[in-house]
Amino acid sequence: ALKVAIVGLPNVGKSTLFNALTQTAAAQAANYPFCTIEPNVGDVAVPEPRLDALAAIAGSKEIIPARINFVDVAGLVRGASKGEGLGNQFLANIRDCDAVAFVARCFEDDDITHVEGRIDPISDLDIIETELMLADLESLEKRVVNLEKRAKGGDKESATTLRLVKLALAQLNEGRPAFTAEVAKEDDKAWRMLQLLTAKPALYVCNVDEGSADKGNSLSDAVAARAAKDGAKSVVISAKIESEIALLDAGERAEFLETIGLEEPGLNRMIHEAYKLLGLQTYFTVGPKEARAWTIHVGDTAPQSAGVIHTDFEKGFIRAETIAYDDYVRLKGEAGAREAGRMRLEGKDYVVQDGDVMHFRFNT
Ligand code: GDP
Repeated sequence: ALKVAIVGLPNVGKSTLFNALTQTAAAQAANYPFCTIEPNVGDVAVPEPRLDALAAIAGSKEIIPARINFVDVAGLVRGASKGEGLGNQFLANIRDCDAVAFVARCFEDDDITHVEGRIDPISDLDIIETELMLADLESLEKRVVNLEKRAKGGDKESATTLRLVKLALAQLNEGRPAFTAEVAKEDDKAWRMLQLLTAKPALYVCNVDEGSADKGNSLSDAVAARAAKDGAKSVVISAKIESEIALLDAGERAEFLETIGLEEPGLNRMIHEAYKLLGLQTYFTVGPKEARAWTIHVGDTAPQSAGVIHTDFEKGFIRAETIAYDDYVRLKGEAGAREAGRMRLEGKDYVVQDGDVMHFRFNT
């Protein structure tokens, strides 16, 4: 499953957010099984109201949402890359995540100590970014000698890696995070294999006071501006409110959200922004047995999308019976869509659209 690291200085609201995320999943017990792999990893169902609508129409016995993992990375403080706080082992936790959610403290509360003694989310983010840059520098510098040796020995792959390592080092030595490097499309995969902390797709989570949960405040505006400049995404969330929402049942939740002027829990927005950030989207398979959401990349073809279910589906792909989500709902299911001519037969070049209801035909 997709893995997102939750990162930030102490006392910014990371654990509050993490607990809200995992409790929400637990609260949706029957349909959204929740399990914790490790104490700091939360396996969370991706909120998807469309899946419930599809299951209701098809009378599906089971609803299986897509999953996303959140990793609570504690212990990041100034000096972490030098082993301060919980130090390096926690930086390693971030390395195998697909994206990083940076939590920034955008609330004032005199009772809650700030490690730096002032509320300034931008310099908090700078501190974290500096630590991640130092960690990247260190891990890259360690690799140079070995790569040079192997590249000289004629190993093409090492030569490519070495070139990219040098590209990243050039940025980092100038005090710029690795994501600012210009990487050619054909190098994309090798670049990602470097697992650089400062090259991961980033989502800035502005943890605001309860009164600012709907529109944010001047601190979150500043963070949003920084995110936009860095090509990152940002969301406004009140971790405290989210932890309260997490404990409500579906009916109470809708009512509570309305009173505070929110359309959906902030956590849902956070998950959806993570999807967008990573270029992901959803298609569905729907039947009497189960209704299920599958995660694919924007631009994936029908066979590639089938491959997410099983590699045999991709290899033996013949065609896909496809109904757009809106048609499926409007025409009340497969039979209605077929009758109205809204069930399409799509071939191997079809680019799957978000919300498509798919049925794959394949050879075994
Ligand atoms: P972490 O160290 O980043 O994991 O931070 P925690 O989630 O443990 O939060 C630190 C303290 O800040 C706790 O006492 C939380 O209750 C409090 N806190 C978290 N979010 C908010 C918020 O939005 N508003 C206020 N007033 N307090 C918060």
